[in-house]
Amino acid sequence: MLSGSTPMHMMWSRTFDPDKPPHPGRVDWRRILRYFAPYWRQEALVLTCIVVTAALGQLPPLFAKWIIDRAIRFHDQHALLLDVGGMMGSALIGAAIGAWQGYLNAYVGEGIMRDMRDALVQHLHRMPLSFFTATRTGEIMNRVSSDVDAIDNVVTGTLITIVTNIAIIFTTLIAIFILDWRLAALSLLVIPFMILPLAPVGRTMYKVRKSTREQRDRIESLIQETLSLSGITLIKSFVRERQEAKRFHVAGTELMDLEVRLALVGRWFIAIVGALVIVGPAIVWFGGGVLAIRSGLEVGTIVAFVAYLGRLYGPASALVGVQVQLVSALAVFERIFAYLDMAPEEPVLASAIDLGTARGDILFERVRFSYVPGRVALDAVSFQAKPGQLVAFVGPSGAGKTTIMALLPRFYDPQEGRILVDGHDVRDLRLESLRRNIGIVTQETYLFHASIAENLRYGRPDASDAELVQAARNANIYDLIASLPDGFETTVGERGHKLSGGERQRIAIARVLLKDPRILILDEATSSLDSTSETLIRDALVPLMLGRTSLVVAHRLSTVLRADIIFVIDAGRIVESGRHADLLMHGGLYASLYRAQFQATDVVA
Ligand code: ATP
Repeated sequence: MLSGSTPMHMMWSRTFDPDKPPHPGRVDWRRILRYFAPYWRQEALVLTCIVVTAALGQLPPLFAKWIIDRAIRFHDQHALLLDVGGMMGSALIGAAIGAWQGYLNAYVGEGIMRDMRDALVQHLHRMPLSFFTATRTGEIMNRVSSDVDAIDNVVTGTLITIVTNIAIIFTTLIAIFILDWRLAALSLLVIPFMILPLAPVGRTMYKVRKSTREQRDRIESLIQETLSLSGITLIKSFVRERQEAKRFHVAGTELMDLEVRLALVGRWFIAIVGALVIVGPAIVWFGGGVLAIRSGLEVGTIVAFVAYLGRLYGPASALVGVQVQLVSALAVFERIFAYLDMAPEEPVLASAIDLGTARGDILFERVRFSYVPGRVALDAVSFQAKPGQLVAFVGPSGAGKTTIMALLPRFYDPQEGRILVDGHDVRDLRLESLRRNIGIVTQETYLFHASIAENLRYGRPDASDAELVQAARNANIYDLIASLPDGFETTVGERGHKLSGGERQRIAIARVLLKDPRILILDEATSSLDSTSETLIRDALVPLMLGRTSLVVAHRLSTVLRADIIFVIDAGRIVESGRHADLLMHGGLYASLYRAQFQATDVVA
């Protein structure tokens, strides 16, 4: 899947189209129902509750009729008491069942939400890096939080409303036709006038809702970008607060306009329903009145009928545009499915090999790679790193050094050529077993907002305290940790920003030491550290590289001096290779890079 000539960002964009409008035919009902399946017991109970409540709701108008036609007419106080008691009793039982149903609804809705969130997050963990570089973080966050939250509205809102209203209409129809079929037919006359003119309302609502959701995505991204630590630092240093506030205000105003439009879309609908709620009963009073005068229809029947009308028109109007409502509600599932359908990182290969503990023999064979079609980042790169060797890569900025490092753990796959570890093409290896053997220390050290101990144990949760101390000592960070009031339990702050750059990097080195991989990828920091920091890091690197095959993007003289072989990269190609002294004598690109880059650190080294 990832091999061949199609880059990954194109692979997932083919299956992912958040803008496609949902179509009833395209809603994958079976797939949606699969998420409902684990909760069938609760759903059956909810259904029973709905039917029982709907049936109980038919009783009060009936009791009203009996009060008028029997108790009052025949001055029967005992019957009056019974009827009023029945009226109150049915309402109370209905309310109790409603409360229980509320609990069941919440259980099903929240359960489905949890399952969807789990599925999404697990899937996102398996998405290739290219997806994350091409997608705004805010959009991903929104998909996992707001879209999944919307599922709850679909389950406990839309679907329950539809079923409840259908149950109420159905039981009311039975009740009114038993009571008097002529008046029943008369009351149904009004319903088409409610439904016909209002069909377009649902469609417009769907369109506006979709724009609202997209605008929310945008706002979430803005918040993500501007209120993250790096974002806010950028804003402050460029004094862009005013412009950013304006940008946020403009986006917020667009959302506000959309929400106001959404509120207005239904205004005609509400007006017409409001009018019919008065017209309908008037018609029934007229028809009932005529029947009462001519053929002695009881007054209680007319009163009961008018009461039933509320139970007919209310639910009928709620069901207007039910199809559009249902489809736009279910579009939330579609948005989530679009994410779940994006091609994940690892092809499902039955024959995938488990690397076990690698020896660390690395071979690049004529590797060619482009991030974007037509722009080659690496071209025919071939080299070998034997077990235990230190291999350094140097070259001008943008030459492709980091890209070489990213290909080994398969953050990206080359379009041509092969990468072998211990003689196996990395694409034939189980991704997990490949990455377990590789430790990475990059320029941008990422630490979680947790304690130093938790950060260190990230690669090996079962590491003992003594191992933690040993790794910290080897990485030259122990003294600092010991000097902190909370020691290993100190939290490092958002992304580790409570520590200095050099300290963060030494913690990252300790973290990899604990993981103890056979292969090390190290992207040395370009930023110049003061000489103490520099020495501390340089000394920490010695145990880090010991006994491992190390691929290092070198910015330190100490590293290139120790390297078994240096590859000089320029514009995606290896242009020179050899040991430091030979390359320096050769007088090519390396020699000029040496003068520009490494001589500065000469003093420290
Ligand atoms: P530096 O020393 O400045 O870190 P480098 O040698 O490590 O540079 P790379 O990061 O490997 O260079 O980049 C090689 C080329 O690929 C550059 O031209 C860069 O613009 C491009 N590139 C890097 N990452 C991406 C990406 N995610 N998408 C598209 N192009 C990229």
